[in-house]
Amino acid sequence: MKVAVFTFNDFGENTYVVYDSATSQCAIIDPGMVDNTDVAHIVRFIDSKGLQPVHLINTHQHVDHVMGNGFIRQLYGLSPEGSRKDEFLGQRVREQAAAFGMRHAPEIVEISTYLEDGDEVRVGNGRLQVLAVPGHSPGSIALYDQEGGYLITGDALFQGSIGRTDLPGGDFDTLVYAIRSKLLTLPDDTVVLPGHGPSSTIGSEKHHNPYFR
Ligand SMILES: [Zn+2]
Repeated sequence: MKVAVFTFNDFGENTYVVYDSATSQCAIIDPGMVDNTDVAHIVRFIDSKGLQPVHLINTHQHVDHVMGNGFIRQLYGLSPEGSRKDEFLGQRVREQAAAFGMRHAPEIVEISTYLEDGDEVRVGNGRLQVLAVPGHSPGSIALYDQEGGYLITGDALFQGSIGRTDLPGGDFDTLVYAIRSKLLTLPDDTVVLPGHGPSSTIGSEKHHNPYFR
């Protein structure tokens, strides 16, 4: 599958649209839109490609990664999929927004389908493998498109860094172990598409990321 990236909100959060050109189905991952201008960006892309959104997935339930869920539900009738272990965060998304001083009051996350390690999400002829990478939050997941050769890492792994572990349910050792065992074992040329900042590759992170080199 192909993938497109959009960067939204004060956190510079990356929203991804993965799509299968053969069937025109797509999945929207971590929608971070805060207003109609943001929404117009992503809708224009979806319409220009003639895509049909069939999944809404949150890599984890921090406010910057779920704040656009309500727009996607209203536009496409999709409810979020994600880990049950982050449900306590999604239920408190408005408290999270208030803690960061945000005026936007996002929709409380009601997960429709629980995703667990080893699950596969089908998007047309494509597949996203669900990899549990806890530590930034208890229910953080990464999404791996083996055929496409890319990995959407949420806030687990960034170019040259890893996610913070000082938020509720975070744990540094758990995160480092999960990245080592689940992500850095993928092929070196796998493109890393993180929740914030520029893309990288697994090989580059193995050699240059200070947490792993
Ligand atoms: Zn996060």
